[in-house]
Amino acid sequence: MQNVTILGATGSIGLSTLDVLNRHTEHYCVYALTAHSRMVELAQLCHRYKPQRVVVAHAGQIAELTKLGVLADILVGEAGLVEVSVDPEVQVVMAAIVGAAGLMPTLAAVQAGKRVLLANKEALVMTGELFMHAAREHKAILLPVDSEHNAIFQCMDRPGVSVHEQGINCLILTASGGPFRDMTWEDMERATPAMAIKHPRWSMGPKISVDSATLMNKGLELIEACWLFAVRPDQVQIVIHPESIIHSMVQYRDGSTLAQLGRPDMRTPIAQALAWPERIQAGVEPLDILACGGMHFQTPDETRFPCLRLARQAMAAGGTAPAIVNAANEVAVAAFLQNDTSFTSIPAIIAGTLDRIAVQPAHQLQVVLDADRQARAIARELVPRFEVET
Ligand code: NAD
Ligand code: MG
Repeated sequence: MQNVTILGATGSIGLSTLDVLNRHTEHYCVYALTAHSRMVELAQLCHRYKPQRVVVAHAGQIAELTKLGVLADILVGEAGLVEVSVDPEVQVVMAAIVGAAGLMPTLAAVQAGKRVLLANKEALVMTGELFMHAAREHKAILLPVDSEHNAIFQCMDRPGVSVHEQGINCLILTASGGPFRDMTWEDMERATPAMAIKHPRWSMGPKISVDSATLMNKGLELIEACWLFAVRPDQVQIVIHPESIIHSMVQYRDGSTLAQLGRPDMRTPIAQALAWPERIQAGVEPLDILACGGMHFQTPDETRFPCLRLARQAMAAGGTAPAIVNAANEVAVAAFLQNDTSFTSIPAIIAGTLDRIAVQPAHQLQVVLDADRQARAIARELVPRFEVET
């Protein structure tokens, strides 16, 4: 029996994880759940899954949960998130908080040598070098949940061994292209949050949905792939594949290209990461290959989707540059979702922030956290320049 902590239990990944765990109650026990808001939903999850520990954002939510009949031990804030991530009772941590808010508990889980199922790509993007070093040093079992990275992991004979030794030339990350794949820049200038979060293939939280529309999600995933698989950015090819049937590919030096295919349902990578090297039921029907129809592939347009270029530049610059891009993106996306700025200003805010901060080496966590804070402050100052016209 393995005890599982779910960081971000009320989110899209959190709920899919609970669905998978609930199919295997003989092997997994829901030990701790965390949520930032939506206390009624959290209370419902507590009644259903009976976790021993729960973490909320602030003390006022304790009374709310108690009133809703929650009997678990309730902890608060970042200290609480870290506590349920390093808890000696816990074997598995699902890192599914969105954004930089997930960094400290995810890193703590890695440092505690847990089996860490990584959905929270932002944590790795911010601290890549430190994060991977901690995973090696503390013998954490780091398993990618992001569908592309999970696909690549599945296409490797010997994950953990260097790509060179495995005979791998290149990784191919597929992207659906998002809801604005074929839209002109002029039309994107008028895109609303409702349009951006309506993803054609996947159902996800609002922030990653906007990232998919700007292609920043693919940019963050490029950085994520470089760290997870120890490859250079030029060894990662990004390909638009609108049908989202192939979740990513690995090219070997002997001419083989291996691909992982499946339905666009995150329960598949979650179950794979949970059970690896075993396979368990995920509640997902296998792909009906005859019903797939055609598959198409095209090069992404970095002129209409500058976020991809910005992420690539940040990875090439190294140090704190990815953390700066991530922080500015979080601020710009939040502003867009609140109708404070236009869709097309998101890359402008990120580029402006990157221009204004000197990149530092990122060997120390404090340096990364300072860069994150500084980037947020600058990005917030830039937002009013791009106010939405009404
Ligand atoms: P979501 O918005 O649906 O859920 C986010 C969760 O994090 C919620 O439980 C929320 O309460 C919690 N949270 C939000 N802000 C917080 C804060 N400041 N402190 C603590 N907790 C906070 O997001 P999601 O779509 O489930 O995505 C979660 C992560 O997984 C993201 O990093 C995303 O990039 C990654 N991911 C998601 C998908 C997907 O299909 N949804 C796919 C691949 C990767
Ligand atoms: Mg992905």
